[in-house]
Amino acid sequence: MTFRELKVIEPILEALEEKGYKNPTPIQEQSILPILNNKDLLGLAQTGTGKTAAFAITVIQQLYQSSSAGKKREIRALVLTPTRELAIQIGECFHEYAKYTDLKQAVIFGGVNQNPQVLQLKRGVDILIATPGRLQDLMNQGIVCLNSVRHFVLAEADRLLDMGFIHDIKRLIPKLPRQKQTLFFSATMPPSIAVFSSSILNNPVKVTVA
Ligand code: AMP
Repeated sequence: MTFRELKVIEPILEALEEKGYKNPTPIQEQSILPILNNKDLLGLAQTGTGKTAAFAITVIQQLYQSSSAGKKREIRALVLTPTRELAIQIGECFHEYAKYTDLKQAVIFGGVNQNPQVLQLKRGVDILIATPGRLQDLMNQGIVCLNSVRHFVLAEADRLLDMGFIHDIKRLIPKLPRQKQTLFFSATMPPSIAVFSSSILNNPVKVTVA
């Protein structure tokens, strides 16, 4: 199987080639086509399986293809992640895979001065990678608006819940448009996560990799 066979488009293929990715990993093989078909996805996958690329490649491709040329840049994809380290790592992946597109992204997290993040947001971004606390803060200040989000990714749902972000997420979800794709990734699937996932996913494709 190749990324080309999974219908990944040229500007992304070129970036993957530069990264030295020869073939998709099992989670990429199973999830890329359904995500590109705009299905919701429940992915049970550990770190190290290539799940970040699975959602980053497909989100970038969908945004690239739903051109916003001539329009004001708005946040069309939101990736929620529990920690600053993960947010930065995911941001780097998006940056690398999107290098041959004109998509712009920002990474926001707490514990640092918000001003550089605010400046970046004000210049306009397509993709926002965020930890829940800082996201909530900047929404409350009217700096982040999520009315145009079409792709919503929970990158490590079990850790988000373990770290006590459940209430933040429950407050956030009604503020997102109803019409959107949700991609839900977790390394474990205890009953609490299963219940939570079924409350926010719409007829998802389920993918499990060891
Ligand atoms: P993740 O599971 O998202 O934390 O990714 C684990 C690591 O695998 C990262 O360092 C990626 O750069 C790398 N990776 C992701 N997809 C591929 C691929 N198709 N081929 C080779 N390496 C990959």
